[in-house]
Amino acid sequence: MEIKKLDFETIYFDLYELSPGIYAAITAERFPSSNAGFFDLGNYSIIFDTLMDPFSTDDLIKASKQFTNKEPSFVINSHYHTDHLFGNRKFPLETPIICCSETLSTFQENLDDTLQRWKGIAKQELERTNEIIKEETEPTKILEYNNDIKTYSEILEDSFSLRPPDFIIDGSFIIEGTENKVQVIYIGDAHTPGDMVAYFEKEKIVFMGDLLFEETDPNWYTTTDPAPRPTNPQRLCDTLIEYMEKDIDIYIPGHGKICSKKILKENAEFFEEYFIKKEASK
Ligand SMILES: [Zn+2]
Repeated sequence: MEIKKLDFETIYFDLYELSPGIYAAITAERFPSSNAGFFDLGNYSIIFDTLMDPFSTDDLIKASKQFTNKEPSFVINSHYHTDHLFGNRKFPLETPIICCSETLSTFQENLDDTLQRWKGIAKQELERTNEIIKEETEPTKILEYNNDIKTYSEILEDSFSLRPPDFIIDGSFIIEGTENKVQVIYIGDAHTPGDMVAYFEKEKIVFMGDLLFEETDPNWYTTTDPAPRPTNPQRLCDTLIEYMEKDIDIYIPGHGKICSKKILKENAEFFEEYFIKKEASK
């Protein structure tokens, strides 16, 4: 299967057509952030994960409309981490945002803390960005900084909040389109209490959210940031091995470049070494 890199102008991601109607937005190297996808099922257009930066989500929506010729029908959030759902607020309220119960409840439990943390960071970042933009001459950098300034200013507004997912489906489901079909598989407790993946069996493609990272880092074992620490390392490893053994050619990670089976093996070994064995020996 040939992966096609598409011509689409954005500073935030590289856009690929993995198979007819199946698209991946892979974070640009200069903007290490999260990945997303969109799927043209014929009668439906599905967005899989929104992006951290609101302007990258704008570009994701623009790309999905351009390449599918339709408005997004549904959005799916793979899990509750905000780098995968910050952009939810960019979709009209008529567009359902699908997740599982655990994703909605952990999102709600963490929302106040997240907003408070961001408001703290936004103030400092706004000051810092306003300073560095004065010296900048490169147009894409200036665009990036201006977008950041708009984002931080918006975060600091009292009315700022995030749009929660609102269409809750517990368990796996299939969206059977007129052209393509996607299986949205409920994994449950692994990277977070409720993870879901999007699987195209015939095309041998899976979008794994943060069950898969192109790169792992031993510092995750000691960090206080909960994001990279799996809530259930054993389930995560078992899931990685299960998907490695399936007849799949293309794995889209939550972060980093398009992966092969080798990376799933490396991820499984990493979590085994740094989380399962270390926890057991404590
Ligand atoms: Zn995550």
